[in-house]
Amino acid sequence: MIAGVSDLTVRYAAATALDGVSLHVADGEMVALIGPNGAGKSTLVNALCGLLRPASGTIAVRGDLALVPEGRHLFPSLSVDDNLRLGAWRRRRRDTSHIYGLLPGLVKLRDRPAGRLSGGEQQMVALGRALMARPSLLVIDEMSLGLAPKIVDDLAAHLRERNTVDGLAVLLIEQNARLALELCARAYVLEAGRVVAEGPSAQLASSPEVAAAYLGLE
Ligand code: ATP
Repeated sequence: MIAGVSDLTVRYAAATALDGVSLHVADGEMVALIGPNGAGKSTLVNALCGLLRPASGTIAVRGDLALVPEGRHLFPSLSVDDNLRLGAWRRRRRDTSHIYGLLPGLVKLRDRPAGRLSGGEQQMVALGRALMARPSLLVIDEMSLGLAPKIVDDLAAHLRERNTVDGLAVLLIEQNARLALELCARAYVLEAGRVVAEGPSAQLASSPEVAAAYLGLE
């Protein structure tokens, strides 16, 4: 196992955002977490990254975790290359050249201020910045939000490649359930702070409840 939470409960002042959630990502696995707005997905990401303290339960992360945050959070006035460098702030080597090898679309953008890029280009930079840390687990929060299908396909192909070539493990938090279930072999469905379904993506996708609620099928 590369990361997991067990019986995790997180409360904000008035609300219980996560109520006894258990999930894990095995070495080299791509796992999806889907669920509606307010289900607790961001809370889970924050707890996993150590940004908030749970009321109870355990969190385990083995190896280095890098986050591709919702909304990308690039520095708009800094160049693409400088944004990439910030992904390796904990390392002595900040050589970005391997990232241009992995994501060749960034080569022509390297000196451009990140704030002048399209949403898809920015998401690619956010992915590259996370890869700079050479993580063993990537946690990706709402990668596809607001992006054209062609761009999303491109990002998905890059993730798949890193997974197969480098064994990068991925936890993909997505509103786009179709994408998440296609890309990841296994998935969890979170609703109102609880895991209400989990299993192989193909099995979840063929369940009438999941299909009706998340895939727009009857
Ligand atoms: P979204 O996709 O809309 O971001 P989500 O699945 O990520 O939703 P969370 O943001 O984790 O869900 O929110 C889970 C629940 O906790 C919601 O009911 C939300 O209103 C509540 N919540 C989130 N952050 C706080 C906070 N700082 N204070 C109080 N309640 C919060």
